[in-house]
Amino acid sequence: MQDFPLTITSIMRFGTGVFGGSEVITWTGDGTRRETYARLGERAARLAGALRGLGVDGDQRVATFMWNNAEHLEAYLAIPSMGAVLHTLNLRLFPDQLVYIANHAEDRVVIVDGSLIPLLAPVLPQLKTIRDVIVVGEGDTGPLEGAGKVLHSYEELLAAAPAEFDWPEIDERAAAAMCYTSGTTGNPKGVVYSHRSAYLHSMSIATGNAMGMNASDRVLPVVPMFHANAWGLPYAAIMAGASLVMPDRFLQAEPLVRLIEAERPTIAGAVPTIWADVLRHTREHGADLSSLRLVPCGGSAVPESLMRGFDDLGVTIVQAWGMTETSPVATMAHPPVGSGGEDAWRARVSQGRVLAGLEMRIVGDGDVVLPHDGVSVGEVEIRGPWITGAYHLDEDPSRFNDGWLRTGDVGTLSADGYLILTDRAKDVIKSGGEWISSVELENHLMAHPDVLEAAVVGVPDERWQERPLASVVVRDGAVLTAEELRGFLGDRIPKWQLPERWSFIESVPKTSVGKFDKKVLRRRYADGELT
Ligand code: ADP
Repeated sequence: MQDFPLTITSIMRFGTGVFGGSEVITWTGDGTRRETYARLGERAARLAGALRGLGVDGDQRVATFMWNNAEHLEAYLAIPSMGAVLHTLNLRLFPDQLVYIANHAEDRVVIVDGSLIPLLAPVLPQLKTIRDVIVVGEGDTGPLEGAGKVLHSYEELLAAAPAEFDWPEIDERAAAAMCYTSGTTGNPKGVVYSHRSAYLHSMSIATGNAMGMNASDRVLPVVPMFHANAWGLPYAAIMAGASLVMPDRFLQAEPLVRLIEAERPTIAGAVPTIWADVLRHTREHGADLSSLRLVPCGGSAVPESLMRGFDDLGVTIVQAWGMTETSPVATMAHPPVGSGGEDAWRARVSQGRVLAGLEMRIVGDGDVVLPHDGVSVGEVEIRGPWITGAYHLDEDPSRFNDGWLRTGDVGTLSADGYLILTDRAKDVIKSGGEWISSVELENHLMAHPDVLEAAVVGVPDERWQERPLASVVVRDGAVLTAEELRGFLGDRIPKWQLPERWSFIESVPKTSVGKFDKKVLRRRYADGELT
């Protein structure tokens, strides 16, 4: 067979050629901007020409500081296909993390949405390796001046560049894109995706056992394009010829619901907190979400109550699990064929089965590989062509075990391949030599009709070493006591696991990618703010 490279250039050529009539639709809040895939291809060529004109060469890093929109997609295609490396910056990071990441990656250019100038401007003088700043759309560029960078208008650069670009031949193992982990544990680490890994990941998530994407689909990536490449949805959609519906900066439930009603996407991916907001909004105001045939959801455990709520609307949430290091989609929780009732739910509330191409195992103390029996609990390890083998400028051998990535997640694997996560290794609560799963407690608590959110962390305890502290957000207008919640949990979990420490809070603190920020809760407890 021919040794033909698997590249993003090839995804781009195919999608924008064979499916040149498919569309990228960007939401403006009260309407849309639309372009065909054919036009997307042309604008990607112009962007590549413009970047080359600014001197971008070799595998230099071009950063994006952007929402999910057509221009970001143009960057997704142009930058890797010209041989450079797309570095998506997470615009929700703290300024010092942003500075660390952009300098660590040695970004040469940054493309920024006009609406995000106020966020970028304060840190820009500290981004040492950035020479050029390209501004997309409207925005006061005043704050960017004086940072010693050359400013450009995106549209002016594209208009001046040729409509065609001589795309180079690229080694499929070359770097295509990079993304830093959100740093929930220590300093952010750079994960570098290759052309080959992006290609194979796209193919795999488009298959029938994953999302079964085709040209009749309309894919809405709500998950940000700066978070693990929006779960790979953009590249997979282009490969499948599916149209893309982009929410831009309108990520609140109300505009999202309007976008879904107006553009009728068939697949939409987002973290559970976003879907919980959408569900609440839909229950209060009504909405037609019936165009959605599949809602991949992950990033943190998906509460069963959320899935059941969407089932009532005729929309199927399918849980997925992965991490920045796994490109990110590694499993999806479709129930076994022919199953129904509780059997189907057992599978749906799990993290799912591994995608074709990957291998997974559970490892216990002393790196002993444990049986897939649904009972043996250990750290999840994974390997495959879209799993990282190192971090950027940081080998970090402690994260790898004989070619397997140590995920830091803890759980079981059943005989039929379903992964059930009980915790992240650092969140497990160790009480008197036994482990308590914070995730399990949270899931039970969030199943209570008056509980909006619940986060459980381990706090130091003299007698038991650690005990669970439950922080609960109660639905507006409802009154709940710790006693009632203990009673509610008492029917569901062993008595010794029942938290004795409770705090009722306004909202659970979230990380830059919308996950419960347990570090903050532990700190608040240590500071005496939570009891
Ligand atoms: P970070 O590791 O910096 O928090 P990631 O987005 O890479 O950022 O997070 C990956 C982690 O998110 C996984 O290791 C896992 O702990 C958690 N996660 C992702 N999907 C799920 C899921 N479906 N259920 C439970 N946890 C999940």
